[in-house]
Amino acid sequence: MSRIMVTEMKGRLLTLKCLHCQKPKCMEACEFDAITKGEDGKVIIDLEKCTGCWECVEACPFRSIQKDEIREKAIKCDFCKGYDMPACVSSCPTDALTIVEIRGS
Ligand code: SF4
Ligand code: SF4
Ligand code: SF4
Repeated sequence: MSRIMVTEMKGRLLTLKCLHCQKPKCMEACEFDAITKGEDGKVIIDLEKCTGCWECVEACPFRSIQKDEIREKAIKCDFCKGYDMPACVSSCPTDALTIVEIRGS
């Protein structure tokens, strides 16, 4: 299951991934407190708490959350937790993706 997608819009290619929003709509929509925004600014889903209700999927304005229908878990960018460098950034051949500092909530 992909945490980042490439789509075409008006003849241009566009990546769709979580923007770790300042005021995450996904977090507001989750009634199970499964989504949190840390002091580092990252918006993370706690899969232990996720019930697969898909409210966050509907709430995200950037279509950045996928449904893992088999496990009934919401899946999105986790900033490559556990790795030094996000895979999308290190693999992009045109350096279109970069890491910038994001402010906490
Ligand atoms: S999943 Fe969507 S709403 Fe939630 S932080 Fe990412 S871009 Fe924002
Ligand atoms: S699918 Fe999971 S993370 Fe999303 S709103 Fe429901 S419980 Fe929360
Ligand atoms: S940071 Fe990691 S999880 Fe997030 S979109 Fe890039 S490769 Fe995927």
